[in-house]
Amino acid sequence: MILILFGPPGAGKGTQCDILEQKLGIPKLSTGDMLRTAVASGTPVGKKADLIMKQGKLVPDEIVIAIIANRISVPDCEKGFMLDGFPRTVTQAEALDAMLAENGLAINKVVAFDVNEEELLKRILKRAAEAGKNKRADDDPDVFKKRMADYKKSTEPVLAYYQARNLAAHVDGMRAIDDVTAQIERLIK
Ligand code: AMP
Repeated sequence: MILILFGPPGAGKGTQCDILEQKLGIPKLSTGDMLRTAVASGTPVGKKADLIMKQGKLVPDEIVIAIIANRISVPDCEKGFMLDGFPRTVTQAEALDAMLAENGLAINKVVAFDVNEEELLKRILKRAAEAGKNKRADDDPDVFKKRMADYKKSTEPVLAYYQARNLAAHVDGMRAIDDVTAQIERLIK
């Protein structure tokens, strides 16, 4: 099972992936998490991504495509995986299709989270408050605006790309966490 959890920052993709990892027994592949680890370890990729992420901009396609290509070749992905935060551009979506096709694989479902912008900002601020000293540099109202602008410009077209191939389905991401999980489970049954 190859799933894409798709939606704006703060929609709950990461939270649902964490729950579904246990339920479905497939790993969560979060480019955001992998990039934050690279930044914290000071790798060459981390050094390139650090400022871009702090500004709420998108890391160049070739960097995230290479990260995902490496990650899906790890044996724990053999039974499938969930993508959180990737693809974020049509170029990334096309690259993903090509790398899956090379291995005789294809995406099963793209789960799009519907959450209004006011609620997204509320959740980002809550996540920042709860993280205290470990707060993400990009969980900030001004950076959120930039992330949303990039989402609308570069990432929303990715949904149309999957809709054209009948792969996308929507969940009401405004509902309680358990309810959203149940909606996703119904979609992928
Ligand atoms: P996230 O944890 O998914 O919100 O990602 C945090 C930040 O990492 C984003 O704002 C981008 O700067 C960067 N990032 C994560 N995934 C991608 C991606 N697929 N393409 C470009 N940049 C990404």
